Order: sequence, then structure tokens, then C-alpha cells
Amino acid sequence: LRKLQRQRVIKFYNRHGKEVDKDGKPLPRKTNLVRLMGLAKPEAGLISIGMVSLLLSTAVQTIAPLFFGKVVDAALDSMESLNRTVLILLLIYLAGSVFSLVRAWIFTLAGQRLVARLRSQLFGSVIVQEIAFFDVNRTGELCNRLSSDTTVLQNAVTVNLSMLFRYLLQIIGSLALMFFLNASLTGVLLAIVPVVSLSAMQYGKFVRKMRKLFQDRLADAGTQAEESLSSVRTVKSFSGEAKATTVYSGFINESYKIGKKLALAQGIMDGLFSFLAYGAISAVLWYGGKLVYENSRDPTTGITAGLLTSFLLYTLQVAMGFALLSSLYGDFMQAVGASARIFTLLDRKPDVFVPLNPLVLPHLTGEIEFKDVKFKYPSRPETEVLKGVSFRVERGQMVALVGPSGGGKSTIVNLIERFYDPNEGTIAMDGCDLKLLDLTWFRQKIAMVSQEPTLFACSIKDNIAYGREATDEEVIEAAKQANAHEFVSEFEMGYDTLVGERGVRLSGGQKQRIAIARALIMDPTLLLLDEATSALDAESEHLVQEAVDRAMMGRTVIVIAHRLSTVRNADKVVVIDKGQIAEMGTHNELLATHGVYKKLVLRQLAAGYTGDAKD
Ligand code: ADP
Repeated sequence: LRKLQRQRVIKFYNRHGKEVDKDGKPLPRKTNLVRLMGLAKPEAGLISIGMVSLLLSTAVQTIAPLFFGKVVDAALDSMESLNRTVLILLLIYLAGSVFSLVRAWIFTLAGQRLVARLRSQLFGSVIVQEIAFFDVNRTGELCNRLSSDTTVLQNAVTVNLSMLFRYLLQIIGSLALMFFLNASLTGVLLAIVPVVSLSAMQYGKFVRKMRKLFQDRLADAGTQAEESLSSVRTVKSFSGEAKATTVYSGFINESYKIGKKLALAQGIMDGLFSFLAYGAISAVLWYGGKLVYENSRDPTTGITAGLLTSFLLYTLQVAMGFALLSSLYGDFMQAVGASARIFTLLDRKPDVFVPLNPLVLPHLTGEIEFKDVKFKYPSRPETEVLKGVSFRVERGQMVALVGPSGGGKSTIVNLIERFYDPNEGTIAMDGCDLKLLDLTWFRQKIAMVSQEPTLFACSIKDNIAYGREATDEEVIEAAKQANAHEFVSEFEMGYDTLVGERGVRLSGGQKQRIAIARALIMDPTLLLLDEATSALDAESEHLVQEAVDRAMMGRTVIVIAHRLSTVRNADKVVVIDKGQIAEMGTHNELLATHGVYKKLVLRQLAAGYTGDAKD
């Protein structure tokens, strides 16, 4: 077991020998726990009410066994006394239930309020992060932070915390009462029970660890199965079924090896430890029975049968209290882990350059100049993607970026959008470094239409008006310009038609026309286009092209071009190859140089575009 564990858990240490996380930051411990409790501060009022109910309900729970015993003694006394005692017991339980109701309700409510607040806050601090952050943090993982980690925290600071107090109070109260009732019997009990329960707890921990290992191995197998099944076409086309099965079985075998041991351990847990537990109870019962026997001989010594009953119930209460406390420990540790991840996100400042006095340029023309721009993606610092790129786009010009796939065309567009900033060199708009501009304002002045535009799962109208508030007339006008009005009007719900998973399925060309309308409604000064490489059907093709041509009119345009007709019309063609500008000029000039461009033209500008073959 140890050996397996050692293989799995990789720990990191700093130069002082302290354990750290994989980024070298110290492992969060207490500070996070304190801060975690701090999260519940706005709910202090609610939690105090909850605490009072908790105290009262626990008090009831603690004295109830005493009355159980009294019922036994009353039954040995008279019918009248029995009725009275049972009535009192019922009243006690009624009160206890009311307090429990308030306690559970209030604590859960406080937790819900806390987690609702935390989730909004957390989403807010995630979405403002820079694009590079999303390059390295997977969406699924971030969504997990929002859903499961926050739930763990919710439980920790409310339900688990209340349970902690409840069980502690219950244990202390029960023990105190037991001592008060009969010190010597309590002494016997305390001599036996802790030994048994501590060893059971230890063994339980061992079993849990083993179960965790088992789960991990099973998860490995699951990942393997998922990979094979999700790429079943590839598996089959290489006749890899037998191989996939062997690999999967290997993983399953690993988990089975642990599963075998786990089965025995589970048996020991159920058999041996329940024997020990009953043995301990029998011992107490024997000693208690002896005291009852003595009492029946001489009422001045020993204890009554009822008192022994109470005693046994208290014993159970204490044992249960301890068991539940130990299960809480795991919950709290989980919460500390979850809170560390959440606080890291909450505290993270987006890594975006923000100037002291962000500029807003009143008469923007969209003129763009790259001056010796060098750039590496933060997630891949070892590769220089742009190696000194310089070019100009005059106002109102249409510039086409062409070149082999992976050359850096999209990167240039990403930099103009300021998804990233260059490592060296500058990008200027109307002579002003982009970094000095007000980013929110600037992004409203540029619009991007990408190859495969993303539409949101809302109405067509809301999709078109995503970038700014717009009237219905403006939405329709933009749609008309983008050749979208006609097909949208044909939907029963028109512009209120929902798109996305729960709405209508739009064709590629329709999506693009909506995306063009979405860009047009912003009346951007600079239009960024990424031409589709995959061919649309002829009809869509024509409508999209017409919309694009209209959108370009009167604007500065940078287009990642895959179509010959586009590059022919461009005022300037910039050929990007391996992060550098290979050639630059008009279509005709470049053709005359017999260089990279000509080769690209002969191959229809490469990148897989075939729809243009008639050119
Ligand atoms: P093109 O648009 O000309 O096909 P790109 O600009 O997409 O080329 O890519 C240029 C290089 O940058 C490629 O090597 C690509 O793998 C890399 N790259 C693109 N996007 C990222 C990213 N988000 N993180 C790391 N590397 C990237």
C-alpha cells in the first residue's frame, strides 16, 4: 500500500524543506481556515440565531436519555408515574424538534446565502482574467471551482460547523451527566470505550486510504476507457480493439489487486470491530448489571435499572458523537483545500497592462502600425511565435494576411484585439500605442468575425445586440446589412428565436451572417475578419460574401484571407511565414516576384480552402 502511495503522490519542497505546491507557493493551512470562517461574517446574524437553537436542541438531546431511564424506573413503580414520565419525555422531544427545525433551517439558509454570494464573486473574478489565464486553466476545471468547491465551502462554514459544535457539546454534556450519575461506572466505561473506538478509527482510516487508492486506480481505468471509446473510429480503423482491451484490463487489474485487500479489510472492519464494540458494551453492561443487582439487595448502594438504561444511552451518544466528529475532520480538510483554490482565484489580479490615464481618441481612423513586434505565448514561453513583425495599415485600407497555417496570422489578430501584449515592439492605432488606450472603449471600436463564430444560447436579437444596447430597428438594420434579415424573418418567432442547444440549429452560413450583424451593430472603425477555410454551400457562400463586402465598406479591415478574390481586392497583401513577414505588396506585385506568395496562389492560398477553385 505504502509503495503504491509513494508512486502516486508527488510532493514539492522549497529550499527550507517546507512542503509547497507545484508553483512553489507555501501550502495553505490555517490562514485559509480563518478566512473561510470570515466568509460567513455577513451571515453572523442568522448564524447567531442558529447557534442559540443549536444550544437548546443539543441540551434537549443531552438530557433525554436521563428521562428514558426514568421511564424504566417509573414502569417498575406505578402506571400513573409511567404516564407522567412518558408525557414529560414527549414534551422534551417536542421542544427539541422545534429547536432542531430552526437550527437546520437557519444554518442551511445561511449556507445558501453565502454560496450564492461567493459564486457571483468568483465568476466575476474569473471572467476578468486575461486570455493567457484561460490558455492554461481548463474551462471544466474553472466550472468545478464554481460548483463543487463552493459547495464544499458552503457546507464547511455552516452545516459542518454547526455539527462540530453540536457533537462537542453533546459529548461534553453527556460525559458530565454520566459522571454526575455514577462516577465509578463512568470510570469503567472510559477505560474501555476509547481504546476500542480509537483503534476502530485508526483502522477505518487505513481502510479509507485503501479505498481512495482503489478509486484512483479505477479513475485511471475510466480515463483510459473514455479515451478509447471517444476515439472509437481511430481504434477501429487500426484494428486496435484487442490492444485497447488489454490496456484497459491492465488498469482494471491494478484496481482489482487493491480491491482484493480492500474486501478483506472491509470484512475485518465489519466483523472484528463490531465484536470488539459489543464486547465493550457487554463489559459495561456486566459491571452496570452488578451495580443494579447490589441496588436490589440494598437500595443505598449501586444504581437502579433505569439509571443503567440512561447510562447505556449516554454511552451510545458519546460514541456516536466521536464517530461523527472524526468524519467532520475529513470534511474540514476538504474545505481547506477547496478554499485554497477559491481564494487563489478570488485574489488573482488579471495580468493586463493598465495605463495610469487610459486614453480615448476622439476621431479614430483605424490606422494600425506594427513596429518590430516580437511575441511568445505565455503558455509556451520557449517558442517565439512572432519574430519582429512590422507593417502598416492605412485608414480605410483592406489588408490581407496570408501564409501557411501556423505562421502567426491569428496571433497578429489576437495582438490587435489585445488578448495578449507583445513582448517587444509596439502596435499603434492612429499613432498611439494600444497599451495606452482605454481597453473597454478600444474593444468597442474593433469587431471580429471569426471562422466559426460562437453564438450565445439566447435570442437572435440578443445575439446581434451583444456588444451594446440597441433598438429593434437597429438590430433589424444590422441584420439586413448582413443578409440575415430574410432567413430570420422566416422563423416563427423571428428575432426572438432562441439559438444554441435549446434553440434552432443554424447552418454555418447563417451563423456567420448573425456574427457579421453582431459586428456591424458596433459600427467598428476596424474590422477583423477570419475567412472560413471550410467551404459553405454555394448559396450561403454568396450571401456571406456579399455581407462581408458590405461590412468592409468605409472601414479599415484586416482579413486573414483564404480566398483569391479577397487577396486580389486587397490594398496590401502581407505574407506571414514562420512568424516573419516573407513578402508584402499588392497581389500583382507579389505575383511578379515569383516568391512564397506565388506558390501559395498556385496552391489556392493553401490552408485547405477549396471552395474558390473557379478563380
Ligand atoms: P496561423 O493563424 O497563421 O495559422 P497562429 O497564429 O494560429 O497561426 O499560430 C502561430 C503559432 O502559435 C503556432 O505555432 C501555434 O501553435 C501557436 N499558438 C497559437 N495559439 C496559441 C496559444 N493560445 N497558446 C500557445 N501557442 C499558440
